[in-house]
Amino acid sequence: MEMLTSVPKLSFDTGGEFIRQTRREVDEYLSDPRTRARGRAELYAKGVVAFIVLLGSWLVLVLGHPGLWLGLLCFGGLILGTSLTAFSVMHDANHGAYFRTRRLNHLVGWTADALLGLSSYAWRVKHNVAHHTYTNVDGYDADITQVPLARLVPQQRPRPWYRLQHYYIWVLYCLMALRWQTVGDVAAFARGSIGTSTLRLPRRWDLAGLVGGKVIFVGWAIIVPMLVYPWWAVLCGYLVYSMIVSLIMAVTFQLAHCVEEADFASAEQLASERRIWAVHEVETTVDFCPHNIVLSWVVGGLNYQIEHHLFPRVPHTHYPQIAKIVQRNAERHGVRYVTQQSLSGALGSHFRHLRTMGRSGIPVALDMG
Ligand SMILES: [Zn+2]
Repeated sequence: MEMLTSVPKLSFDTGGEFIRQTRREVDEYLSDPRTRARGRAELYAKGVVAFIVLLGSWLVLVLGHPGLWLGLLCFGGLILGTSLTAFSVMHDANHGAYFRTRRLNHLVGWTADALLGLSSYAWRVKHNVAHHTYTNVDGYDADITQVPLARLVPQQRPRPWYRLQHYYIWVLYCLMALRWQTVGDVAAFARGSIGTSTLRLPRRWDLAGLVGGKVIFVGWAIIVPMLVYPWWAVLCGYLVYSMIVSLIMAVTFQLAHCVEEADFASAEQLASERRIWAVHEVETTVDFCPHNIVLSWVVGGLNYQIEHHLFPRVPHTHYPQIAKIVQRNAERHGVRYVTQQSLSGALGSHFRHLRTMGRSGIPVALDMG
């Protein structure tokens, strides 16, 4: 993907013995056809569960006239189904891990448009290019840019209001999906960039997918429910649904990179000392809750983000096995590999990181009031 000309192009050393040896061992693990078939079967099974939970909950809500308790259960089903689709279907597909062909991957990745209301076309630039190539690099990775609302990395300029960011950022997380569903995608297309990566206007099938996806999303999430329920109830329900899904998605993504244990870098640092890309990815990323079977099933590859960043085109159902290989080689080659064992530990680390980023760097005069 081409970069904007006003910013320096960063490049990494893509070699190194750590990644060479890790790749060899991962290739060997994946060389068994039964292993590959099992990983795909698990991946597709999750997709079927996500679709059934989402569609079933929606149908009961819209056609079933459920009472309060069944209605709340189905509302929870909508949130679970949407989260599963985001973490275990569209994320893998938009990375090219779902099928062998690009066209089929894009088709499944289009669930982002139709079911989540986000443009998969813009997501692939924001996530696959900006975030996956320049992880935790200020100005290049859009996931760590919330300026002037919050300061997520040491390289960003301090502001007095960031002192309270560890309290108010949760509200921003709740509004993130709503922002992308409404003005975020449009603004990115109008600007022509995400982070420092160029975002071209979609054409032909990509354009049809973008417009068609928005129409389908607004149709099932707002218009059809309004034929059954009062408009204010639908809007309130939609806002609550969108905010909970947004909070779950934002926090899940943040726990891997925006924590005390993760490394951050500026473009200047990377320009002065050329880093090995694989080492940079491992040291800017943290795995969490690898032994929590339920969480690992629901969030898919996102609690094994070290493995995901090294092997984004491999179905996430293989990551628990690949993690053993990566960790072993990281220890062998002196690469810092961090796993956060508990969810409370990961959330605490994110909270403390936000608090530290909010407090540090404030000029003394301002600090004293
Ligand atoms: Zn990813």
